[in-house]
This record gives sequence, C-alpha cells and structure tokens, in this order.
Amino acid sequence: ALVQKTHETVMEINLNAMLNNLNYYKSKLRPGVKLMAMVKAFSYGSGTFELANMLQYNKVDYLAVAYTDEGIGLRQAGISMPIMVLNAEQSAFDKLVEYKLEPVLYSFGLFDDFIKYVQRNDIVNYPVHVKIDTGMHRLGFEPLEIETLCDLLEQNKFVRVVSAYSHLAASEASEHDAFTQTQIDKFEIATRQIEECLGYSIIKHILNSSGITRWASAQFDMVRLGIGLYGIDAAVPADNVALQPITTLKTSISQVKRIPAGETVGYGRKGVLPRDGKIATVRIGYADGYLRAFGNGVGKMYVNGIVAPTVGNIAMDMCMIDVTEIDAEEGDEVIVFNETHRIEDLATQIGTIPYEILTNISQRVKRVYF
Ligand code: PLP
Repeated sequence: ALVQKTHETVMEINLNAMLNNLNYYKSKLRPGVKLMAMVKAFSYGSGTFELANMLQYNKVDYLAVAYTDEGIGLRQAGISMPIMVLNAEQSAFDKLVEYKLEPVLYSFGLFDDFIKYVQRNDIVNYPVHVKIDTGMHRLGFEPLEIETLCDLLEQNKFVRVVSAYSHLAASEASEHDAFTQTQIDKFEIATRQIEECLGYSIIKHILNSSGITRWASAQFDMVRLGIGLYGIDAAVPADNVALQPITTLKTSISQVKRIPAGETVGYGRKGVLPRDGKIATVRIGYADGYLRAFGNGVGKMYVNGIVAPTVGNIAMDMCMIDVTEIDAEEGDEVIVFNETHRIEDLATQIGTIPYEILTNISQRVKRVYF
C-alpha cells in the first residue's frame, strides 16, 4: 500500500494560483494562438501529474517534456493530450511510439533514424516537430539546412510535421532585443520555407514565458509557457504583478540549543558564533535541494515571520539557523520560501536562477496540492 510521506519538509503547490497564471498568459494571446505548457523536469519541480491533469482539464493545447521517460510517466498517469518530447533518445523510439509521444527532429541524423524506425514498423504520418536553430546554438537545424530538410520532407509519407519551432536565447533581456529580433526574422523565413515545401500549414512557435510578455508580435501559432506558470517572471527587471507565486517550501525545527560565544557549528567548523546565541537545527539539507551554497549566512529562513540566517555548512539532511532573537521551539514551522519570501530572492542570494532552485527540490520533499 502507498505510505504517505512523513517528511516535514514540504512543498505546497497552489493550483488556483497556477490557474491564475495560466489565464494571465492566455489573456496575452491573440485569438486562436495555442498554448503549450512545459512540464519537463517534474514540472519545474512542482509535480508533473497533478499539474498536467490541471492543464489538461483547462484545455491547454500541448504539453512538452524533455525526455521520453517523462512522457511515458504522463501517459501512465492518464494524460491523453498531445505531448512533444524535446530531446528524444534514438534508443527509445519504440517506447516513444508505443506511448504516442511526438518527437522533435533537430538533426539529419535523428531525422534519418526516426524515418527508418517508422518505415520498418509500417507507420505512416507519424506526428513530429522540427526544431530550427536561429541563434541559441543548442539543438536544431541551421537555417541553411532547411532546403535539404525540405527535400527529405517532400513526398515523405512516414511523418507529418505538426509544428516547427525555435527557442529564444535571451527573450527576457532588453539588451539582447536586437539579437532576439534576428532570431524571430530567421524563424519566419525558415518556417515559410518549410510550409512551402510541405504544402500544408504547420504550427509555428518561438516564444517562452518572457517572450510572451515582451514579444507580443511573435506569437505565431503557439507559445511555450514554462516558468511563468509557476508564478515567476523571468523578464529583467521582473515587474509582473499579475503573476502569483504558486509554491511554498517549508520545513520544521528538530532541536533548539544555546551555544556560547566562540563555539563553532556544523561540518568543517565553519559556523562561528560571535556572541552567546541560540540555533535551531532544521529538517532540510542539500539532499532536499537546499543547496550548500546557502550555508554560512547566505541563506535566510523565516521562523514565526522573523528572519533566521543559516549558520555553518548545510549538511545532507539538515542545517542550522540562527534563532537567537526568535522565540523558536522544537516542531516549529520554518519557511524557506513562499509568496512573501520569494524564490527569486533565494536565487539571487546564491547567484542562480529560480529554475535551478525549483528543479533541485528533491523527490524526498513531499508535495502537497491545494
Ligand atoms: N521552450 C523550450 C524549448 C525550453 O527548453 C523551455 C524551457 O527551458 C521553454 C520553452 C520554457 O521557457 P520558460 O520557462 O522560460 O518559459
């Protein structure tokens, strides 16, 4: 039988807030523009199946995952809507097809392998997506390769191109606007070329979350919404008051102790108390995703609404916080981040981005939805 997790490090996910964020982005779209939700990496750490269910129910058009396993997980959880797999493995084509997942074809090698696979299995018209590299230089066909791709696609009965897309490298930053515009221009030309050779129209998409807020004219036929769903505005500077944070990460105090001045705390004796003080040991460590970089005062938690900085190194399952000035007791709740103490601030504290904080919260942490 399924045993409920008892770990008191909990991530609460507010599905209503997520729906608010979804509707906010929808309100930015021209009529008829479709929406793909990015639910890769366990839905940015928030829990694929619960969120995917909500998105399916709310008539999002497409879901996207990074790898085949993630798509299989969604199908096994009963998700029946179309799912695009950004980075499908050649070794997993059988599973991909069995679970009706739609691969992105981004290179001639992959294209060739996939065509051979479907041909061998007597499949025709299998839905695929084409990735174009307009400047990110990660995955995708180069604009100069489109002509050759077209030669391969023309009269090809084995696959049906559902969509073509590209990814913007810096849609969030105005200092790169001229570059972003060149990406959009290249995309427009390349997709026109593809549609001409195919003889049918395809879904064209290039915008991620900050693209939706900053590049309204480049919506084409669909947008790919990721971090914005989770209530985070990736645009620089972030100023989107319409978004609601959806996640709270909280933990609890295992022990409180008084430490005399001069004593050291934790591994490597890095935590030094300059005065007599009081520390609390809390039930979160780097194995939960509270990264070591938060140690030694960099990270700040909140006990009864009062800030409590970390003391010493973060351990695997625990860490210590300074509660000298706080009325803190064993069992008390400790907030790591919530709607007030923003995940964006945590990311800034250790020089990273909210995406990395969220996706690092490990499977040991219980997810609770409301
Ligand atoms: N499109 C692609 C290809 C991506 O890899 C991602 C996320 O990394 C997104 C869209 C969504 O980006 P964001 O989370 O910034 O909206």
